[in-house]
Amino acid sequence: MTQTIIDCHVHINGYESLKNIPLDERIKALSDTMQANNVDQAVIISSYKVNEERPSTSQILEYIKNNDNIHVVAGFSIDNHDGKNTIEEYRKYLKDGKIKGLKIYPGYEHYYPYDPKYQKVIDLCIEYDVPLMIHTGDTYTPKGKIRYAHPINVDDVAVDNPELKIITCHLGNPWFLDCQEIIYKNKNVYADISGLVLGDFTEFYEKYLVGKITDFLNYAGEPKYLLYGTDWPISSMKSYLNFVSKLDLNDQERELIMFENSKRLFKL
Ligand SMILES: [Zn+2]
Repeated sequence: MTQTIIDCHVHINGYESLKNIPLDERIKALSDTMQANNVDQAVIISSYKVNEERPSTSQILEYIKNNDNIHVVAGFSIDNHDGKNTIEEYRKYLKDGKIKGLKIYPGYEHYYPYDPKYQKVIDLCIEYDVPLMIHTGDTYTPKGKIRYAHPINVDDVAVDNPELKIITCHLGNPWFLDCQEIIYKNKNVYADISGLVLGDFTEFYEKYLVGKITDFLNYAGEPKYLLYGTDWPISSMKSYLNFVSKLDLNDQERELIMFENSKRLFKL
């Protein structure tokens, strides 16, 4: 059976294979990798930071405009001092349907996701009925403070904003159990499975994670809360597809996780 695939979590920041190459070539690398792996659509998430290696949301929008299978979720920074990636700018993009959601980066920025400073991001997501992606779990940098990134903090946001749709990124890795409780308890919370490995899965780690995701599905009950994403170029698209092929899912469950859930949530 041929399958439609949406990768709801990729980056085009200048790391891994995208180091020191211009933005148009990074988009081309993404597009080529998608094609090579039969991935139909992808969602690029812009960084909370803007610098030479991390393009702004407006730059990304400019460069992807001829790729209608590539979408954008805009990263937001509390500590933004250069006037880029602002709420006013994002409101305009949301009004024009140019961005499909917003993302905050607790842990990288040292604030809890329920910090009142994030409320304007939450309100904007509710107003335009788009999901808020929240980084959860390990930050892969010693500068991150992981207590802010623990998935348990997402519960406060979910309870206090019942109309908000939340995607906890990376399944709260390595706090899978805490993440699955948040999803089970709150009907407005989803999770993506991106970024669980740097590069390729080893056989051991793949087996370990198949177990974790199986537990997750058994506990949270429905596959409607899980979204396929990779974190490419940090994780390999090919290795990820191989990994999810090992999950024991029926056709309908697979369709939800690989495609339908993202299509519905991001309105793709
Ligand atoms: Zn990511």
